[in-house]
Amino acid sequence: MWSGGPASQPDTDAGRHRPIRVIVVGGSLGGLSAAVWLRDIGCDVVVFERSSVLLEDRGAGIVLNPATVRYFLTRKVADLRRIAAPIRALQYLGRDGEILSTTTTSWWSSAYNVIYRSLLDCFDRARYLLGEEAIGIEQDEHEARVRFASGRVERGDLVVFADGVNSAGRRLLAPGCTPAYAGYIAWRGTVSEEQLRPETFDLFHAAITYHLLDDGHTLAYPVPSRDGTVEPGRRLMNWLWYRNVDRPALEDLLIGRDGRRFTASVPAGFVADRHIARLHADARAALPPPFAEIITLTAEPFIEVIADVEVSRMVFGRACLLGDAAFRPRPHAAAGTAKAAEDAYQLAMALKAHQGNVPSALRAWEPGQLALGRAVVERARQAGDRLQHGRWQVGELVPFGLYKVSDSMMLEEYLVPSAVS
Ligand SMILES: Cc1cc2nc3c(=O)[nH]c(=O)nc-3n(C[C@H](O)[C@H](O)[C@H](O)COP(=O)(O)OP(=O)(O)OC[C@H]3O[C@@H](n4cnc5c(N)ncnc54)[C@H](O)[C@@H]3O)c2cc1C
Repeated sequence: MWSGGPASQPDTDAGRHRPIRVIVVGGSLGGLSAAVWLRDIGCDVVVFERSSVLLEDRGAGIVLNPATVRYFLTRKVADLRRIAAPIRALQYLGRDGEILSTTTTSWWSSAYNVIYRSLLDCFDRARYLLGEEAIGIEQDEHEARVRFASGRVERGDLVVFADGVNSAGRRLLAPGCTPAYAGYIAWRGTVSEEQLRPETFDLFHAAITYHLLDDGHTLAYPVPSRDGTVEPGRRLMNWLWYRNVDRPALEDLLIGRDGRRFTASVPAGFVADRHIARLHADARAALPPPFAEIITLTAEPFIEVIADVEVSRMVFGRACLLGDAAFRPRPHAAAGTAKAAEDAYQLAMALKAHQGNVPSALRAWEPGQLALGRAVVERARQAGDRLQHGRWQVGELVPFGLYKVSDSMMLEEYLVPSAVS
């Protein structure tokens, strides 16, 4: 039976005279972050990604954190001002679209595609294998073996499962730990800034803008366009509307246009027309006019089910869970990508500090990442519960951050490659 390995292993790695062979399962932001950092400390890394084509974003933005961009800055591979849009204010709108409060901020938003392609460019494409779905793992004190749906079996000293919210690694190693529905969903989408009325563009283009409802909230902020353009007026306006949805209504929303049943999200192009028509009608009826405008301009919005994922262990012998596979915070902390990148970086630092002894490096790595994951999940859960039930105050600072609220704020000078040594 291919399943999880022993809880602890003897330290058999001392005296190894070859590079550590690392199998990374999942080639998105967490997997690629692990791949580049581990490769740079001398590991022999191969990434196995289930998708048969290179990944494309879900059309949503990512708020940057120093952890998200550490690799690019440390290796001096990108001037982030060219791939990120500044968010200079947090503002709250009232029911008629009037500004109720404004707070100065220094957040930066980017897009999944931009970060993914930039990381991929830093890695060896011959070692990034598409169309490989991990389905089993077996291990002993000497090595781990991962089995793929293709029939391939790969041997490694370390297996990093960075395979996301529905992680196969988590199913195999920590069965019983499943996502817990939070009671609400996010409707999401983007619209080109060029399509906005001038006054709507003026209102939204330099800020992250919130509107609070008794039973939900909505927000919008600019993100780079699909081709990476960050010039104001040519970017995308990214919006989310978090709506409380009971189980029966959720089941209905998850049935796609073609009758297919989705679980964690319904991608753009697959949401049933009647649900989109209802969304547009509700937006016109319940939201400030600028929010109603951007939502009704979005012909193909998508749905993300909000759920908490929280493991009690991240290390299983020679295998570990990282990023969303281990902890998936609700989006309110804007920390999911940063946490995946931080897990990856800290893993490489632990292996380096333990001179390649995999079991002892993993033991040293786990407590800090467990604490970080728990803290971010809890902060995002508390914020979500208040935001969805009318208990958030106009003007309150939103809890963006990895280790603490507001550590995602970055001055422009920080984004220049020479800023980090
Ligand atoms: C295609 C894509 C687009 C995204 N777009 C956005 C966005 O626009 N905005 C945003 O905020 N977040 C987006 N995310 C989510 C975001 O990347 C994560 O929440 C966060 O960065 C943590 O990343 P992760 O690598 O841990 O997990 P994910 O990004 O979820 O990556 C998991 C990867 O593992 C692969 N995988 C799953 N199972 C297996 C298996 N058995 N074998 C091999 N590979 C497997 C998946 O195909 C996926 O590429 C996107 C994720 C993906 C995969």
